[in-house]
Amino acid sequence: MKPIRKFTVRAVIPPELGALEELAANLRWAWHEPTRRLFQHIDPELWQASDRDPVAFLGEVDPARLTALAADDGYVEWAERERAALREYLAEPRWFQSLGTGTPRTVAYFSPEYGIAAALPQYSGGLGILAGDHLKAASDLGVPMIGVGLFYKAGYFAQSISPDGWQQERYPVLEPDGLPLALLRAPDGAPVQVTLALPDDRSLHARVWKAAVGRIPLLLLDTDIPANSDELRSVTDRLYGGGGEHRLLQELLLGIGGARAVGAFTELTGTPAPDVFHMNEGHAGFLGLERIAAYIGEGLTFPAALQLVRAGTVFTTHTPVPAGIDRFDRALVERYLSGALLPGIDPADALALGLEPDADPETSAFNMAVMGLRLAQHTNGVSKLHGEVSRRMFGELWPGFDTDEVPITSITNGVHAPTWTDPALRELAEARLGTDDTEHADWRSAALTDGEFWAVKRGMRGRLVDDARRRLTAAWRQQHSGAEPPTWVSRVLDPDALTVGFARRVPTYKRLTLMLADPQRLTAILTNPERPVQFVIAGKSHPADDEGKRLIQQLVRFAQQPELRGRIVFLPDYDIGMAETLYPGCDVWLNNPLRPLEACGTSGMKAAMNGALNLSILDGWWAEFAGDDFGWVIPSADAAGDAGERDTLEAAALYDLLEHQVTTRYFERDDDGVPVEWVRRVRETLTVLAPELGADRMVREYVDRLYRPAAEHFAAVAADGARGARELSTWGARVRAAWPEVHVAQVESGGVEAPHVGDELKLRAVVELGELSPDDVTVEAVYGNSRSEETIEAAQHAALEIADAAGQLPAGRHLYTGSVALDRAGSFGYTVRVVPRHPLLLSTAELGLVAVAE
Ligand SMILES: *Cc1c(COP(=O)(O)O)cnc(C)c1O
Repeated sequence: MKPIRKFTVRAVIPPELGALEELAANLRWAWHEPTRRLFQHIDPELWQASDRDPVAFLGEVDPARLTALAADDGYVEWAERERAALREYLAEPRWFQSLGTGTPRTVAYFSPEYGIAAALPQYSGGLGILAGDHLKAASDLGVPMIGVGLFYKAGYFAQSISPDGWQQERYPVLEPDGLPLALLRAPDGAPVQVTLALPDDRSLHARVWKAAVGRIPLLLLDTDIPANSDELRSVTDRLYGGGGEHRLLQELLLGIGGARAVGAFTELTGTPAPDVFHMNEGHAGFLGLERIAAYIGEGLTFPAALQLVRAGTVFTTHTPVPAGIDRFDRALVERYLSGALLPGIDPADALALGLEPDADPETSAFNMAVMGLRLAQHTNGVSKLHGEVSRRMFGELWPGFDTDEVPITSITNGVHAPTWTDPALRELAEARLGTDDTEHADWRSAALTDGEFWAVKRGMRGRLVDDARRRLTAAWRQQHSGAEPPTWVSRVLDPDALTVGFARRVPTYKRLTLMLADPQRLTAILTNPERPVQFVIAGKSHPADDEGKRLIQQLVRFAQQPELRGRIVFLPDYDIGMAETLYPGCDVWLNNPLRPLEACGTSGMKAAMNGALNLSILDGWWAEFAGDDFGWVIPSADAAGDAGERDTLEAAALYDLLEHQVTTRYFERDDDGVPVEWVRRVRETLTVLAPELGADRMVREYVDRLYRPAAEHFAAVAADGARGARELSTWGARVRAAWPEVHVAQVESGGVEAPHVGDELKLRAVVELGELSPDDVTVEAVYGNSRSEETIEAAQHAALEIADAAGQLPAGRHLYTGSVALDRAGSFGYTVRVVPRHPLLLSTAELGLVAVAE
């Protein structure tokens, strides 16, 4: 019988064990092994079965067991020690406090998804896992941050596979009462509600759940409350569930409702109001509009408010795939922005922010990434290569500037080591290396032998094999109406075979099935009796993506062949719980996207932290970190004629590497059966590469390079009743209006007849500034190597000095002079340009205005 309603009754914990409740209520258990051990001790089997989620676990433990433990002084003391450690962790000064700067005061971090623990499935893939890792690392580093997101009743979907290999989706409903969440309440106990005014006099209401992610509060907005009509209750039903209007409502709620929830939270708790707002992808872009509306309410104009908002906003773009960017029907957005939603904002001003460069303002789509870039003065991609790709992809927003001047920097993603490192490696580090910090340990130390290391790694592989058998057994039962599976199912995989992992979402660019390009060759690799290789594969396709589902089906069917089924498996329902066993169990992590479409990719990082070597296309993070000791590069066939040929060439390179490099190394053993050279590389990877891949490195970079500058810049333009913001906006409008009259009228050079290195090139330029004054602009020489007519490579800039002799030139014209040192031999090119100048601009390209000599 199907229940019409469900809720969770929380267990009554004996008062002696009150510490357990406090520990369960803070998600730090998701990455704190000592806390996990404390819970596990209560009932190891049940702990495993409850997804290692203490809240669910405590609800299911036999009360008699808890009563017994309450009488066990040793256990009670242990629990109290862990509680004391948690309280200390929450209060003590950490890295950020040691900086002593106090800026930023508070960072509000907005993301549509969060992957924090298997028990809180509010993510679909890399973006969410990254957001979870960002909060965890911020907590460990003591960065003052508030996370903001939505609470999806059914999260993403749960995946199963039909007998013929087709993906099936289920949407198990989450009960917030049974999760480590608490409602945000006013002092009188009433739940805080945020409200958005919608067209046709409707209102969207949301309650606010609060999760504690270590030191970081995470606010999750939830529309499933009686104050809403049935239709509006379902706004937060699923992650990326619907299209068009449903999605727009989610994003309006995330941005506008989220900003309002932050306001309510800071007021209730006395937390300083954020001086930095970070948008993780464009989905939360409406938050900028909400803040502009608030400043307009305080008396600023739209342009001045925009300056203020931009100064303190950080925007991170995550996709180089245009289809991955949110675009809404313009008329739909207009309808929502025309009501009472954002008082004081003229919809035309808001719509202009989402207009793609050179698009028709009447008919084109409203682009959330473009709006994000216009609302944020501080922007970044998520790896060096992705930074370059983003500068090219969005370069038209700064017309006239070379790609390398486009103001989008990059910070390479990282993964949270305490979450993603296998407990067995941590125990080994504790026992042999004297540290529980696996990310910064010296794994090359002679205190640890290759044999001992290899035995631990074999254990990790063995647990993956067990987990895979368990999952496949369950999947078989589910596919065959409860029938017992044949014995081969419980014997798949081999704890001593070279184990290759491949798991990710299944958009086409990730090329799940590249390995099947030549099925005979793959079969030969998998069935080689001397050098056994096995593949463990997992991944979900977006429910609306039939192409992705076809790829999964192709792979599942291939793996169903009797001679291969023990050597290649597809595990249904990839999620954090699976990932925790999968990465540690792999020897090689395979990644074969179409370069450069993988913005960063983090699964290979997690595998490396667990002693795997990477076998990957030179894309995302691997493009900057590949090294001989860390794995192998699959060469990209960039010159291939078409996509098919490219796949064929890259797959052939993959097979070659597997046959002639990877397997040979792996099966090169000493007398004790240890692959000494392989283990050396793995130990190098753990020692040298792992510290570069940590989310702590990433969050430090965000603080140093984006958050602190944003906070300082915000303070500068906000000071004195936002004097700077007002000035900047009036000045910007004046410069923009006058710019069509700005020209470089004439350039003369001299001083070099037969130029040699060390000579100086002298320049004189006459510029026409129209209504502008020399204070408004910089006139500069742009110079450098120039091997083609079209470009100056790695251009340098040298400002020219004004050299006006009064009355010599007509009004509006000015003479500038200067010189450039010829410090390198070879072809040389230069030009002269005029760009706007203001002390509150962060980048030359910011206004997208430039006048170059013709
Ligand atoms: C790490 C992770 C991802 C993202 O992996 P990518 O390599 O960035 O695609 C997705 N899902 C889960 C469960 C993960 O742990």
